[in-house]
Amino acid sequence: MTGASTGNGFDADVIIAGASFAGLAVARELRGAGRVLLLDHQDIGAGQTSACGTTVDVLRQLDLMISHQQTADRLVLHIGKHTLSYPLPYPYCTFEYGQFCAALFEQSGATFERARVLGVADGNAVAQHPPGHPDGVTVLTRAGPLRARYVVDATGWRSTIAESVQPGFLVRSTLSGGIEAELPYREDGLHFWVGSDIIRGGYAWVFPCGETARIGVLAFGRTGGLRPAMRSFFTRLGLPPDPEAPYHGGQLPFVARSVMAGPVFVAGDAAGMCFGLTGEGIRSAVTFAMRCGRLLREVLTGERTGTSAARAYTRYFRLRRPYFRLMTWLQSRVGRLPDPALFTYARLAHPWPIFPLLMGEYLRASRPASAL
Ligand SMILES: Cc1cc2nc3c(=O)[nH]c(=O)nc-3n(C[C@H](O)[C@H](O)[C@H](O)COP(=O)(O)OP(=O)(O)OC[C@H]3O[C@@H](n4cnc5c(N)ncnc54)[C@H](O)[C@@H]3O)c2cc1C
Repeated sequence: MTGASTGNGFDADVIIAGASFAGLAVARELRGAGRVLLLDHQDIGAGQTSACGTTVDVLRQLDLMISHQQTADRLVLHIGKHTLSYPLPYPYCTFEYGQFCAALFEQSGATFERARVLGVADGNAVAQHPPGHPDGVTVLTRAGPLRARYVVDATGWRSTIAESVQPGFLVRSTLSGGIEAELPYREDGLHFWVGSDIIRGGYAWVFPCGETARIGVLAFGRTGGLRPAMRSFFTRLGLPPDPEAPYHGGQLPFVARSVMAGPVFVAGDAAGMCFGLTGEGIRSAVTFAMRCGRLLREVLTGERTGTSAARAYTRYFRLRRPYFRLMTWLQSRVGRLPDPALFTYARLAHPWPIFPLLMGEYLRASRPASAL
């Protein structure tokens, strides 16, 4: 452990638990404002869980085009024997996770410690404190305790810190599961397969990234037993059912939780900021994290108090929560539709200008530019 004190008895001004999309984006916004300590049990960029598909806008906003792999300007939906192609009103792309994280970390100027976070000391008492309480928050890690005035939970769906401050913060029944592998496969556009022939209550995808593609399946509200669906999907694509490539993936929330747990700021999947139905979480993780980082920066530079930052962050979340609720609701409906109804639903959204309008609204829920 670093153990280097800030001079006021704290190990850092801000401790950020989790150094992936959300944690790194918070750290970037705090550059130069104080001592920031990032904690993760894996090395930065080592723990990819995702297909790494997001809007090009996200890479531009973060100055991370260096990690860009392939742009997609259409979404292609496969339902049984039918295929619908939707021009995307704003382009998506795939990117290289390791490069994305390394470059974002470099922009942050934060200190990184490899350590597993276990929770906070005296969770019950901490839960009653306002952000910026003189005692700060003691974060318990496998390598020993660390204390900071402000703490951000960006540990992903487990929300390890928020859960230790507010038991019940993590509701396991609000998690979906996804797995994928990256294989040699060339394609254009973002491809999704829905329907009972691949997976009921979920979808499969092919996200191209140059010479390879990330190919995976996601099940709504179910976190295990995805391998058989993966095998039949590979076969459907003309690939061997058990390729050599390793699988990665994990769980993802489909219900927005909260952006504060007592005095702890929460961002990304830890706050449940992953959309139901689409399973898209990177854009929201980055957007809410940038907002959180900006507000904490204003606290460190004396422009506002911790309490005012917490209020502003909560307000920012509440204004966008209806979008998350709508996507959760859509997932609960669409996930149960039989194939013919799925096709009718997809066809309804197909004609111009309905799809661009829907996508425009969907983008509005979490645009990185809105965080600044
Ligand atoms: C198979 C799959 C594919 C997906 N594809 C996409 C996609 O293409 N586009 C998209 O937008 N979204 C996608 N998602 C969702 C997306 O991955 C998440 O929404 C996103 O990763 C959330 O970012 P985050 O930083 O909040 O959490 P995470 O990326 O989960 O990062 C959490 C970090 O915290 C660390 N950590 C966790 N617990 C501890 C602990 N106790 N101590 C220390 N460190 C800890 C982890 O090592 C990790 O680095 C996908 C999800 C899955 C499962």
